[in-house]
Amino acid sequence: MAQKKTKGIVLSRNISGEADYVCSILTEDCGKEKFIFKGLKKSLKRPKSASEPGTFLDLVYYSRDSLSINTVSEFSIFFDNSQFRKNEKTISSLYYIVDLIDSTTATSDANTSLYNLVAYGLYTLSKTENHLHFLIFFMVRYLMIQGILPELRACSWCGASTGEEFFLNRANLKLSCTKCLCDDNSISGKAVIFLQQALDKKFVNIKISQFQNGEIIPLFDSLHNYIESYFGTKLKSYKIIRQYLATDIY
Ligand SMILES: [Zn+2]
Repeated sequence: MAQKKTKGIVLSRNISGEADYVCSILTEDCGKEKFIFKGLKKSLKRPKSASEPGTFLDLVYYSRDSLSINTVSEFSIFFDNSQFRKNEKTISSLYYIVDLIDSTTATSDANTSLYNLVAYGLYTLSKTENHLHFLIFFMVRYLMIQGILPELRACSWCGASTGEEFFLNRANLKLSCTKCLCDDNSISGKAVIFLQQALDKKFVNIKISQFQNGEIIPLFDSLHNYIESYFGTKLKSYKIIRQYLATDIY
């Protein structure tokens, strides 16, 4: 058994036996992996918060090729999940993001871009008050990294990239210009502009005050539905965050 080191972000936690936690962790070096923290549940010396979703860890662990679960031998926390407990919207947003990543990424598939997106994303989430804007931004960037975001800078039918207005189909996220529009299931206006800015700008450089929650929440729903249908999964964290986001609209 070789001893290895990596950095990781906890995505989910399950109790195993009387005293152990088994966590799904997105690691910097090996992608998503399962890790067991033996005895942590009953430990008086080691912090249990190491196993909570949203915690960033330095890990030393052993792995055996015959087992799919790695055994943690040492860890230290370098970003604590209490950073997200400032309010319910922040913690619900965190749970949505870790649920999204845990439910839709493959095991043992190393991806530096994905690790960086989640790491910078969670730092940003811990500081922002604009949860809806941030979640849409994160989902757009996640779909880009996964290579499954349709072309959003030009009409998907005629290729026109300049025009007065574009329309985003709620179901397949295809963009239409005014001439090519042939359905009545589209989002338009500020929401499409916000989406295009999320492709090109850093989150901190988007002028959030130009985009009201009520204008962009259809984007959140469409991206969420697209993700669930593409990956064939249901995100159990959706209902709660959606309720909090709805309270910001009116
Ligand atoms: Zn067109």
